[in-house]
Amino acid sequence: MSTENNLISPTKVNMIENSMFEEEPDVVDLAKESPSYPIDSDDVVYEPRSSRLLVRGLGENDLDEEEEDYESSARLLGMSFMNRSSSQRSAAASSYTRQQPSNSCSVPSAKKMVVGILVLVIIAFVAMFIYFVPRCTFSKDGCQKTNSSIEQLYPKASNGELFPWTGLRLPASVHPVHYEISLQPNLTAMTFQGSVAISMVVLQETNKIVLHSYDMKIINSTFQDEKVNILEYKPWQQIAIKVSKELKKGEIYVLKIHYSANLSNSYDGLYNSSYIDTNGKRRVLAATQFEPLAARKAFPCFDEPAFKASFVIKITREAEYISLSNMPKVKTTPLGDGLFEDEFEKSVNMSTYLVAFVVANLSSVSKNVSNTLVSVYAVPDKKDQTHYALETVAKLLEFYNRFFEITYPLSKLDLVGIPDFLAGAMENWGLITFRETTLLIGDHSSPIDKQLVTSVIAHELAHQWFGNLVTMRWWNDLWLNEGFATYMQYMSIEEVFPELDIDNEFLSVRFKALAKDALNSSHPLSTKVYTPEEVAEMFDSVSYEKGASILLMLKATLSKVAFRKGVIEYLKRYRGLNTQSEDLWMSLSQVTNPHTDVAEMMNTWTVQKGFPLVTVNRTGIQVNLMQEHFVLNADNATDHSNLWHIPLTYVSDICNNSSSCKQVFLFKDKTATIEVSEKVKWLKFNYRSDGFYIVDYGEQGWRALIIALKENVNVLPHEDRAALINNIFGSVCVFLQVLNLLVYLKNETETAPLTEALTQLNHIFMLLDKRSDLSEVSWHSFRAHKSALTCVNRLSWEEESSVSKQALRSALLETACHLGRPNCTNQANRLFVQWRTSNKTEHIPGDLLKTVLSVAAQTEKGWQVLLDTYKHSIYDSEKRKTLQALASTQDVRKIVWILKAALDGSEIQTPELPLVISTVCRHSAGYLHAWDFVKENWDKLTQKFSIGSFPLQSIIMSTTSQFSTKTHLDEVERFFGSLKERGSKMRSVQEAIETIKLNIQWMDRNLVTLWKWL
Ligand SMILES: [Zn+2]
Repeated sequence: MSTENNLISPTKVNMIENSMFEEEPDVVDLAKESPSYPIDSDDVVYEPRSSRLLVRGLGENDLDEEEEDYESSARLLGMSFMNRSSSQRSAAASSYTRQQPSNSCSVPSAKKMVVGILVLVIIAFVAMFIYFVPRCTFSKDGCQKTNSSIEQLYPKASNGELFPWTGLRLPASVHPVHYEISLQPNLTAMTFQGSVAISMVVLQETNKIVLHSYDMKIINSTFQDEKVNILEYKPWQQIAIKVSKELKKGEIYVLKIHYSANLSNSYDGLYNSSYIDTNGKRRVLAATQFEPLAARKAFPCFDEPAFKASFVIKITREAEYISLSNMPKVKTTPLGDGLFEDEFEKSVNMSTYLVAFVVANLSSVSKNVSNTLVSVYAVPDKKDQTHYALETVAKLLEFYNRFFEITYPLSKLDLVGIPDFLAGAMENWGLITFRETTLLIGDHSSPIDKQLVTSVIAHELAHQWFGNLVTMRWWNDLWLNEGFATYMQYMSIEEVFPELDIDNEFLSVRFKALAKDALNSSHPLSTKVYTPEEVAEMFDSVSYEKGASILLMLKATLSKVAFRKGVIEYLKRYRGLNTQSEDLWMSLSQVTNPHTDVAEMMNTWTVQKGFPLVTVNRTGIQVNLMQEHFVLNADNATDHSNLWHIPLTYVSDICNNSSSCKQVFLFKDKTATIEVSEKVKWLKFNYRSDGFYIVDYGEQGWRALIIALKENVNVLPHEDRAALINNIFGSVCVFLQVLNLLVYLKNETETAPLTEALTQLNHIFMLLDKRSDLSEVSWHSFRAHKSALTCVNRLSWEEESSVSKQALRSALLETACHLGRPNCTNQANRLFVQWRTSNKTEHIPGDLLKTVLSVAAQTEKGWQVLLDTYKHSIYDSEKRKTLQALASTQDVRKIVWILKAALDGSEIQTPELPLVISTVCRHSAGYLHAWDFVKENWDKLTQKFSIGSFPLQSIIMSTTSQFSTKTHLDEVERFFGSLKERGSKMRSVQEAIETIKLNIQWMDRNLVTLWKWL
């Protein structure tokens, strides 16, 4: 699966500063003029509580209880940086904060002593009670007086009988072999009827069968053609049958279930989706999204990846629709009443999460590639946007067939663009489903849009081998699927589409993975997971991006040839089976030098979280190295015992410009020493940033590198220059040194180092922007000192063919326009006027479209034009950029409207809500509104996006990661703490809290230095 990660990349932000539009001549005062966009005055709260409090200021005593929860937003903004400590003191003394007197060691009062004695008596009483009262088993229904050990163990099924199983994971005694599934979705009533016949083999004698089912009404069921009673235990989404006679090992049995259910309203299971066509008519369709745990919502099944089986699927549809499934269609039978039944070929053996079907009105283009019929489907209005995907998938399919030395095993491969689809894409075997943005390329698409579409296709196609053919045994090793597909997506594009400059993208992805994994709330690649929420949370940056990063490191260590051999060995050996990390390392060890123990090395990267910081300390010819777990730990509780087997690489000024200069050694211990010639002036470790670790060179080492770069930027490859910028911001360096390194940037012309510097600076800027601490004067000097922006004047606004140059240009101009630089905003306004007056025939280069539209969205007129464009555009990349522009408005009423519209899904599709929120949050005007919106609509949000899911992770981080004061920290902790079962335990909540603590620390440490530097 592709998360929407690459669709909401924080490095591709577009920020328009609020102040820059204050003097725009065509700003309309909305208080005076009624808006023509669809704001319903009854629905819109123009001032969220945070801003109301902000207006009212601090020290108000008339806050009601509910408002007290939000007082910190106000406190944050009301507090000046310079007198922050005094504000905190006064806050501590205020009515809603109680504080213990410090350094007190007083004699307890008589009252306290009495209370203490009472507490002791109560404890003693409770202890005696527990000891003497007969043993009591607590079940969901409380303590039940019963002697039956079975009743103590088993939960109650929904009919009151005992459910015969006690685990979240299914028993292994029975294994499904084949499913016959028949489905009749009704797209008018939004319901479906289904029947399933499951043939299963018994592996161990047993008298029960347990499988998954979720939210369906079972009409009748038979076991071996005899009626059987189905028991259901809803909390675990399980059903079971009990049989009187033990089932015999090796025998095949058949369970048949006939059921009905509603089409899902969320974006998983068998769900209904809709869109408005160019004639303004609402069209409906049904599609599936089963990964990770939603196949059970469409048919009863053994819904764990290791229970592979074959499937025959039959779908009943009306004449106006077509149906698609994993396999080619074998026949269509008319059923009368305008209904037809499509039957699909028996599938290969596969996991339930890969089953898929679509019922819709779609058009397609096709071609034959190495005996596979490849087709790309879209809604009829968008058929002409499918050609790029078809050509791309054809080239990539040929590449993977060759590279893996295993031919794609099915005779057809469909790629389908689904309107209203939540994930980026999903690798269902033979029927890959996509968001329209990640599949369709129209006239308005830029080469960067093509890069995105190509990446997602390459990722999903790689899954046909990694994931579909060989599947992880359980979700704890999800990285085997996702890390590999992510690695292969970059690797294949580099080979097949070198013009897309994908290496820069992969580099920034590795930096992103390091940033996430540096948090204490991160987790090992291979992590124990049981509950649905824990499984959902595995779809994160660690599984995808860290997974891909460590595979790149391994490839660089073993060599390209050996790595590929090992991968082929792994796929051939485990074809059709399930694996765990260990199996991959075994295969790689077998084909490499017998002295390389791949498992020993790689386990240090997969079973412990985080990554090492290598500290370099040079004295003459001796270079002392030390490794430690690098953790941006807000609580200063670092575990120093972790060690990694680091394939350490380095170059020096003596030899640095070719890969043959690279020195390598395996750094396994806490410390090591290497010797270099006295003539060596500087050393650069982690050549081309292939390794998943960062390096601190010490004061002397950094100074030598900075001097070398100032003299000649080309002494190091651009990946290394970007890595130096990344590492100096990330490591424990003195901040002044960071700022010194940035001086070299005025000579920098390459995309990777400049965009990395912009990312880092934008991060600081966004934190400062959300505080009222900085005076206008300081803002101006901050802008003026952005060394990275010195080249803005030299940038062209014309069409540009190099993707790398486009990426750089769009990043620079986004920042420049956000900072309100007239050389950017004037040009953007000029292009927008041309575009508008020419009725959009005057083309704006695709990579600049978002920047230009975001500038235009700040005026009433511009916003109206863009809202109209959003509603009517059939080009999804244009549509998305328009949406981002709309969400970048500084007008509070429009912000409130757009958040609400994306949540209810009527005018803005709900899968875009995380993007809308993250865009709104980049601006100081909307940040607190978005946070209030999340708090107020939490339950609605979790109905749309399940707890732990990637969209929810993204929403939490967007709305909280820019807080940097204690008061906001308290508020975030209080809000998530109050959710309890409704999401308080999510890892992203811990991540949010940790991030705020780190922001507070950063401010305490570096603000004074930054101030002086400005
Ligand atoms: Zn994937």
